[in-house]
Amino acid sequence: MRHLLDITDLSVEEIEELTRMAEDIAEHPQKYAESCRGKKLITLFFEPSTRTRMSFEAAMWELGGSVISCTDMSTSSVIKGETLADTMRVVANYADIVAMRHPYEGAAYVASLKSPVPVINAGDGGHCHPTQTLADLLTVHRELGTFDGLTVGLCGDLKYGRTVHSLINAMLRYKDVKFVLIAPEELKLPEYELDALKRAGAAYEEVRDLESAIPSLDVLYMTRVQRERFDDAAVYERVKDCYVLTKEKLSAAKQKMIVMHPLPRVNEISSDVDDDPRAAYFRQTMNGKLMRMALILKLLKEKDGAQPAGGKAWFVGGRCTNRKCITRLEKLPPLYTEENGVKKCAYCEAHENVRDKNEGK
Ligand code: ASP
Repeated sequence: MRHLLDITDLSVEEIEELTRMAEDIAEHPQKYAESCRGKKLITLFFEPSTRTRMSFEAAMWELGGSVISCTDMSTSSVIKGETLADTMRVVANYADIVAMRHPYEGAAYVASLKSPVPVINAGDGGHCHPTQTLADLLTVHRELGTFDGLTVGLCGDLKYGRTVHSLINAMLRYKDVKFVLIAPEELKLPEYELDALKRAGAAYEEVRDLESAIPSLDVLYMTRVQRERFDDAAVYERVKDCYVLTKEKLSAAKQKMIVMHPLPRVNEISSDVDDDPRAAYFRQTMNGKLMRMALILKLLKEKDGAQPAGGKAWFVGGRCTNRKCITRLEKLPPLYTEENGVKKCAYCEAHENVRDKNEGK
């Protein structure tokens, strides 16, 4: 069964194929209007969403399919204690494909293990959000015409911003991409993402100041500080307005730079930027629908294909101490992988926290 759990489940060639298809859909929507006739999508959302859920649903309708929308899973059997595995076995009787959002990290992966239909991860906690990345990639492609040689600034909540994690994993596969990671100490990129950059040999720098970074950038990816993921409200209050992009700050940017944002925006981009031609964030939302259409078509067509294993070997043992890991919500066998002597949880990828069960404490 083919799922989309992480952006790296798609090869660079497949992303190119989806990008071409999305562009064709934009030009010839009528060609695709019946492509999913008789097929159903379930949107299974355990966490709030506006754009992602609506764009999945709009995508399926525009392909001629239909939609079952579960927007508030707190009214479902889940509050009676149903596991994700059971939910998926049931849901698969009613739909051909599932788009799922969950606050726990690794939840989509767990759901996919027992799912007889393709599962699309529409966001799992602070971990990843691969379909936002598809929207982001189409935006970069349509606006700048290439992925190679770009300097990409990622600004704001790089710690909990799942869209940032997925975008980095996608962009580091292109040639000569440089990442400028703009964040305060409290919101720096997690270790597992820094490791991915190091492993790929990608050029990156971690900086604090947005204004001095702006002139070198081709893409500025602004993000919301993810209030819902903070354990300590005082820390959120301290960092919530750490970056605000204004028209004045934008005046130092290249004429062809684009400003992106996965939305919703809170304070991090002032509304005087919206009319600047470089502000690409509303165009980005349209691209999200197009890429989701292409993805649904691909997964339904290839649903019996193999899920890429990613060359990972999993071992049983350890205990993930990430409180947002799906293993904290459900009873699951402890699994980890090991790279360069560092253990990483198989579900949520947190690695500094994984301890071997024999290590005590
Ligand atoms: N909509 C994006 C997400 O679901 C970004 C955000 O919420 O800030 O991750």
